Amino acid sequence: RRMSLIDEDGPRFVRMAHLAAVGSFAINGVAALHTDLLKSDVLTDFYDLWPEKFRNKTNGVTPRRFVRLANPAMSQLIDRTIGGGWITDMRRLRALEAYADDPGFRAEWRQIKAQNKECLVREIRRSAHVEVDPASMFDVQVKRMHEYKRQHLNLLHVISLYKRLKDDPGLQVAPRTVIFGGKAAPGYAMAKLIIRLINAVADVVGRDPAMQGRLQVVFFPNYNVKNAQLIFPGSDLSEQISLAGKEASGTGNMKFQMNGALTIGTLDGANVEIRQEVGDENFFLFGMGVPEVVELRRRGYRPRDYYDANAHLREVIDLIASGFFTRGDREVFRPIVDHLLHHDDYMLLADFQSYIDCQNRVSDAYLDADRWSRMSILNVARSGFFSSDRAIKEYCDDIWKVAPVRIDLRDLLPDELEFKRAASEGN
Ligand SMILES: *Cc1c(COP(=O)(O)O)cnc(C)c1O
Repeated sequence: RRMSLIDEDGPRFVRMAHLAAVGSFAINGVAALHTDLLKSDVLTDFYDLWPEKFRNKTNGVTPRRFVRLANPAMSQLIDRTIGGGWITDMRRLRALEAYADDPGFRAEWRQIKAQNKECLVREIRRSAHVEVDPASMFDVQVKRMHEYKRQHLNLLHVISLYKRLKDDPGLQVAPRTVIFGGKAAPGYAMAKLIIRLINAVADVVGRDPAMQGRLQVVFFPNYNVKNAQLIFPGSDLSEQISLAGKEASGTGNMKFQMNGALTIGTLDGANVEIRQEVGDENFFLFGMGVPEVVELRRRGYRPRDYYDANAHLREVIDLIASGFFTRGDREVFRPIVDHLLHHDDYMLLADFQSYIDCQNRVSDAYLDADRWSRMSILNVARSGFFSSDRAIKEYCDDIWKVAPVRIDLRDLLPDELEFKRAASEGN
């Protein structure tokens, strides 16, 4: 009954995952944590029946699009420093580790990031019609809008920072531009309301002269692959803050890392492996892990207890509830506030304080430019595992059982292509 293709507990329906499990030669998770969860939770009965079908294939992204095409300046610096060839053998980026403490290399690294931020500034001016400060930390969350991805947790931090800066204008924190981008599914009302809240907060913060050069919020319209290629190279901080256990892998996290952004994230999806690769000291970790999430849910999660116990969290939530961001209208964002206080399915309130504390560590690190550059260089140097070349090779070897085929480009391309000339010269 547990394994049946048809669920008959209530109105009958087809269990699509069970149908897929029965029909498939291989069942792979897309990150180590995801594979573990498939085995221990989602498909346990099928794992007991067919353990040999289960394996891990951690996702990857293509360095041709997301590094070389998106970030030519950084690619050329890498070419000049460790030689070419890394683009099809990303493990070679490890050779950059030797330059993480080189002052000249760090300076060039920072200059390229600054140039890429200027390009993003221009695109934000063109598409969002706002002027942002390229000297500030570009703190970026771009991905589909979804409650499990917790864009609204990011917003709670923005409001917290806004409140602290208002209460203490001398506060020593890194200036930030917090950039959001992403689409909501047409029928997903809560995701659309979160977009409205982002824009409402952006509006209030943007109009406040006291926030000049200190804090700014932008909603980047129409996030897609094309403009993503400008966003990743122009980012300092990558927000990967889903509730542990909810993000199968994530691939945006990998694109940010390959472009030298540092990650603030939970132990979810491929974040776990990114942190393993870059080292704990080069990753900003916060929040509950899967075991703590499971245990809290088992005990009975009561978000209201966190609200009652944390005065600062109360201030932040109350500011939204008061209508401060809606010219006094307390109704607009009531669904968000009520949901957080009484349901909070994705446990934002439980992770709130840990997130704020971690963002303060991010701020300290950013104020130390040499430390930040070192971390950024090491993140790129250790991003090779997340190349789609590695992921695809694993599928070829373990699942499809296909061997590589040598292709002579001269046989495939028309004569007039410059590319063909280059290929014939062995480049
Ligand atoms: C990579 C990418 C995604 C996936 O991002 P996640 O942060 O992994 O959810 C979504 N949309 C676009 C346009 C992307 O380039």
